[in-house]
Amino acid sequence: MKRVKLLGYEIDDFDFASAIKYAQELMSNNKVNQVVTINPEMFTTAENDREFSEILNNAEMVIPDGIGVKIGLKIMGENVARIAGVDFARKMIEVAAESNMPVALIGAKPEIIEKAVSNLKSEVENLNIVYSHDGYFDNWDEIMDELKNTSPRLILVALGSPKQEKFIYKAKQCLNPALMIGVGGSFDVWSGVVQRAPEIYQKLGLEWLYRTIKQPERFKRIFPALPLFVLKVLKYRIGGKEC
Ligand code: UDP
Repeated sequence: MKRVKLLGYEIDDFDFASAIKYAQELMSNNKVNQVVTINPEMFTTAENDREFSEILNNAEMVIPDGIGVKIGLKIMGENVARIAGVDFARKMIEVAAESNMPVALIGAKPEIIEKAVSNLKSEVENLNIVYSHDGYFDNWDEIMDELKNTSPRLILVALGSPKQEKFIYKAKQCLNPALMIGVGGSFDVWSGVVQRAPEIYQKLGLEWLYRTIKQPERFKRIFPALPLFVLKVLKYRIGGKEC
């Protein structure tokens, strides 16, 4: 397994198939393992949030989700494959179903999670969803207890970032062995309410542009983040800080 560095954080350099293979191993060992699907906004969060920075440093797997991370790594001289978190998580659901591993889904609005669960059940043969809950809860301990009682081996958490990564980090201290992935807006896609960008946008790395056109309220959040991130990496590179 190769890890590359970006702005001081390590990122896994996998192709899609090897990422799935490695995640499958993590799903079967005797620990709670955390997968972060990293994007440029998360680096900015980590700058101002010590706990989040520690989470990034301790995650068992960090995969480059956004095109921004791929561009950033390119500036640092590394050519890595971008792995979309939504595709990675969906494939892991199939892998869990094939290996008879119980699955849990936590996050998104109540009607979204309900629809996502029912779509997944009808699309994925042999899928065993032992627990699901929407993402609008205050009592983390109650959800942790329910997860402990149902013992899923794959847990997908869609609470937005950094909340989902913090939830998973806490779970590492108290849950039974499982692979936990922060999956952002994936349940919205699986529910059918949010459309993925057409393949051509995905291939060109312009999914963010499509989503911004479809959800203009994301513009303020996403747009400045990408060029600012590229500038930050360039400064880092010129400053010669990476080694
Ligand atoms: N979400 C949630 N609880 C919260 C905040 C957000 O369940 O307290 C859900 C939200 O409904 C959405 C998901 O988290 O389904 C991810 O949201 P966002 O679009 O911010 O994620 P992104 O894909 O941009 O990381």
